[in-house]
Amino acid sequence: MKTLIIGSGPAGLIVAEELRALAPESDIVMVSTEPFAPYAPPAMADYFLTGREETLFWKGRDICDRLEIDFRPSTPVEGLRPGSNEVLLGARQTIGYDNLVLASGSRLHSPIGGSDLAGVFDFKSLSAATALVDAVRKGTVTRAVIVGAGFIGVEVALLLRDLGVEVTQVEMSDRVMPRMLDPETAEIVLAEMHRRGVEVLLETKAVAFQGARPVEAVELESGRLLAGDAFIAATGVKPNVEFMDGSGVDMEWGIRVDDHLRTNLPGVYAAGDVAQTMDRMTGESYVHAIFPNAVAQARVVARNLAGIEETYAGSENMNSLKHLGVQVMAVGAPSGDRELRMRRNGILRKVFLTDDRIVGFRLAGDISGAGVLRSLMLKGVGVGPYEDRLVTPGFGIGDLVLTVPSVVR
Ligand SMILES: Cc1cc2nc3c(=O)[nH]c(=O)nc-3n(C[C@H](O)[C@H](O)[C@H](O)COP(=O)(O)OP(=O)(O)OC[C@H]3O[C@@H](n4cnc5c(N)ncnc54)[C@H](O)[C@@H]3O)c2cc1C
Repeated sequence: MKTLIIGSGPAGLIVAEELRALAPESDIVMVSTEPFAPYAPPAMADYFLTGREETLFWKGRDICDRLEIDFRPSTPVEGLRPGSNEVLLGARQTIGYDNLVLASGSRLHSPIGGSDLAGVFDFKSLSAATALVDAVRKGTVTRAVIVGAGFIGVEVALLLRDLGVEVTQVEMSDRVMPRMLDPETAEIVLAEMHRRGVEVLLETKAVAFQGARPVEAVELESGRLLAGDAFIAATGVKPNVEFMDGSGVDMEWGIRVDDHLRTNLPGVYAAGDVAQTMDRMTGESYVHAIFPNAVAQARVVARNLAGIEETYAGSENMNSLKHLGVQVMAVGAPSGDRELRMRRNGILRKVFLTDDRIVGFRLAGDISGAGVLRSLMLKGVGVGPYEDRLVTPGFGIGDLVLTVPSVVR
């Protein structure tokens, strides 16, 4: 059987790796737009700061050779022809398949005018990030304006500060990382960003990147122009699905899949940032574009491809902030019917409950016990008997053992 994987991000790579282990004889082809060996995007900032390759090329640069897969970098797929089981490359070339995995991930989503002007950078791929960091290292960038303070925008701001660049960041919401953080935790992140020298303009809407070629300023809704010598769009991500137009793949925001991560087309699966899956906590169909979901989905796809029937438990909403100086972790919903909280000496721990069950938590300064909290949340365990301990700094599994041994088995 020949399996063709579109995309060599974490989702595509894990499908290849697991499938090779489960079905050693299978013929695996993996194509990617990127010219690089498969890499882990969350490690990019660290790589640019330290030059360390091990976390970026997380499975080793030679992983495709070791897995004996036919890896084709710099090979964008331009269209799907599911009727004849082939995909279309440029210059009328095609690749045939028996099974197809759509793992084309996500890219910048910028609703702001002028985003395609020369000189507008993003940090969504290693190619894009390299272009930005190369410009900084050449000394042509001393003052950057970043539009958007979601988790990628905040990460880029901190990286650029570490590289000696003056940074102004514009965010239309009243807080940084508004989709992940409640206002109180966001304040802690903002304070740390200020301490690191990032200027953050909240409740400030950017409407366009302005200039001829290249871009010269960001225009705000107020009419004010923010000048700089580098402009970064960090306004969100969207699934890479455009090349599937007209193929009949069922899509909404991402590709719709069933509980085996099958699309509506026979023999075609989807995994990672491109797939719209069921949220494990809310049951909603959603794209939670994070690394652990991509990996978990890829494993399920590989097992189904290998003939081992497996259903997907659902995606999760979680993230942690790296490079901040303060550990911050956000998991699940940003609020509930009730909130447990503890704030002391630079530590903030908040757990959100609905009907006595954890629906989300935010930890800053002390993230101990995050794995236990997550496990309690996913299992839907009633936490009434020991809820006072959940927000205690240093909380861990030992706090539960005496009370509810069944929880930790
Ligand atoms: C800066 C940054 C920091 C992040 N930090 C975190 C973090 O701390 N924690 C976390 O959980 N998540 C983080 N993420 C998100 C995480 O990286 C993604 O969820 C994960 O990479 C998704 O994997 P994927 O394989 O689905 O997609 P991607 O990693 O996007 O890979 C998809 C691949 O498909 C290729 N492709 C796209 N279209 C085509 C086509 N037509 N033909 C051929 N190839 C194609 C792309 O070039 C790309 O290489 C971060 C992301 C970024 C950018």
